[in-house]
Amino acid sequence: MFRAGMNSPEHDLSQLKPSSRRSIEPGTVHVLLIDDSEDDYQLTREWLAAVPGTEYRIHWVRDFDEGLSAYATGAHDVCLVNDCLGEAEGLDWIAKRDLGACDIPILMLTDRGTRATDLKAMQSGVSDYLEKDLLNGPLLERAIRYGLEKHRLVKRLHSLSKTDTLTGIANRLSFQEMLAAGISSAARHNRKLALLYIDLDKFKDVNDSLGHGFGDQVLYQVARRLAEVVRTEDLVARLGGDEFALLLNDIVDPMSASVVAEKVLRALSAPFEYQGNQVTVSASLGIAIGDGRMSASQTFEAADMAMYEAKKRGRNQYCYFDGNMQAEAARRAQIESDLRLAISRGQLRLHYQPQVDASTGSVKAVEALVRWNHPTLGFLSPAEFIPLAESTQMICRIGDWVLAEGCRQLAQWQKVRPGLRLAVNISPRHLENKWFLDGVKQIITDSGVDPSSIELEITETTVMENPEEVVRKLQELNRFGVRFAIDDFGTGYSSLANLRQLPVRVLKLDRSFIWGIGVNPDDETIIVATIGIAASMGLELIAEGVETEQQAQFLRDNQCVNHQGYLYYKPLDSGQIQKGLLAISPAANQEQWPAQQARSTFTC
Ligand code: C2E
Ligand code: MG
Ligand code: MG
Repeated sequence: MFRAGMNSPEHDLSQLKPSSRRSIEPGTVHVLLIDDSEDDYQLTREWLAAVPGTEYRIHWVRDFDEGLSAYATGAHDVCLVNDCLGEAEGLDWIAKRDLGACDIPILMLTDRGTRATDLKAMQSGVSDYLEKDLLNGPLLERAIRYGLEKHRLVKRLHSLSKTDTLTGIANRLSFQEMLAAGISSAARHNRKLALLYIDLDKFKDVNDSLGHGFGDQVLYQVARRLAEVVRTEDLVARLGGDEFALLLNDIVDPMSASVVAEKVLRALSAPFEYQGNQVTVSASLGIAIGDGRMSASQTFEAADMAMYEAKKRGRNQYCYFDGNMQAEAARRAQIESDLRLAISRGQLRLHYQPQVDASTGSVKAVEALVRWNHPTLGFLSPAEFIPLAESTQMICRIGDWVLAEGCRQLAQWQKVRPGLRLAVNISPRHLENKWFLDGVKQIITDSGVDPSSIELEITETTVMENPEEVVRKLQELNRFGVRFAIDDFGTGYSSLANLRQLPVRVLKLDRSFIWGIGVNPDDETIIVATIGIAASMGLELIAEGVETEQQAQFLRDNQCVNHQGYLYYKPLDSGQIQKGLLAISPAANQEQWPAQQARSTFTC
């Protein structure tokens, strides 16, 4: 197995010369001549001896069998072969060559050339087809020179097509070929190989924050570090983007792949530096063992699935493939493919979770939460299908549908409760779409609801990914009247300085902090500090995921009265919300939607 050489990221491809098993002495060309005529041999010798500056060393053999063994030694740079020796045909001989053993240009010589044999010769890979009667010294020399040059170029192109231009290591195509060869060899010899599928974690952040030049440099350095952790007989490849793979051949024990995986994680943990900047990158690895039971493409997919699992488990780790992942991957693939039809077939539904003012018990707003009533898999949670929708552009259609359906519903409810607001989650992939701004305005305008009753929830990561673009879009929508909330606040890395630039009115404190109340004093400290920060910045704060009376009491004691959570309501379908609204008697205070009372009405 080979390990391709490295390039610098400046795309210096000069090191990628085609490999040759002979060291060709400069100015010397080794010619294999297969011809039964001694006169022709002598003539060829004379002609080539007269070429200035190049020494042609001719190895003459008289028949095809001898020619085959001479060819197989790999000691020649070019082969001149007669098209017919006695009964034997040159083209048959060409078909018999072991291309794996040697690969040099072949020039075919003929006494009686026809257009048809010329064509056949060309199709069988012959560099040139020369009629002896028309040949002379300069013509032969020129044909050899052209043959050698053309062959060198073809080999170079071949090598480039298998090399990743940025890093100089093998590319995806090459990796797949070597994997296929490795798998069939493992099956034949009852051996094992390991495939490590490596995906850098959050590499997009490196490109976004430090630029693509830095990103390229990191990829180049990753390739170098990977090459250092494997043996020379193993293969390192870049599959594309921030994905790499290692092929460990002939491993004794499947567990030895984990030793290499550990080495990879360690090798990548040191910071990457470029032009005075530093960045730390981690990776997620999937390991599949090839022992002949899975095909090459199945092994590849298995390692990919295991890598996905490593990401799911929190990144910066490795994971071996196991059979359950196959079932999960099949489910994911089905969901991803069915998603395209979910909207047009009316399978999406909205549930609404009330947000409660805990000091009065009134409901000020409801958050729209999408569900998918899948025909065979049943109700699917957004946590399962939103990430899949985000990996395709489907999230934009889903996001538009949620907003349109939520607004349509809100318009109805506002007839009973004019002050009711609707919160809608917005995916970063949707927000970055060029139609987002116009789409949102159009949907809200069409629904007839006042834009100020719509609150769009974005996460801190959304803001961090592309701060300027996000700020611009948010400001424009804010001028239109829409409010913004930061969802899952505290789980990202947004700085307060960043938040101050945004037209945000609400922070939704992530439920993981709320669940720490009475359990983790650090969480309580963070909650109290966040309440203080929100107040000083003039922002509303909503506590998400309030499940117990103790949590609610702690929040109330610290002046946080906006709550959302199972203690009050689980997400409800539109009918249940409708009932809750109508349950408020006209005589009652319209702003009151008593939580305790409604909780019994709205049990899911
Ligand atoms: P989120 O926006 O933070 O929504 C709150 C999630 O917390 C909801 O889960 C809700 O059911 C759950 N939750 C609320 N209170 C409690 C509680 O007291 N205890 C517990 N254990 N959970 C509680 P859900 O509906 O499964 O949604 C999960 C996430 O999926 C949402 O988190 C949001 O990020 C995303 N999502 C939901 N609907 C949409 C949508 O229409 N568009 C987009 N882009 N994302 C959506
Ligand atoms: Mg939300
Ligand atoms: Mg949330």
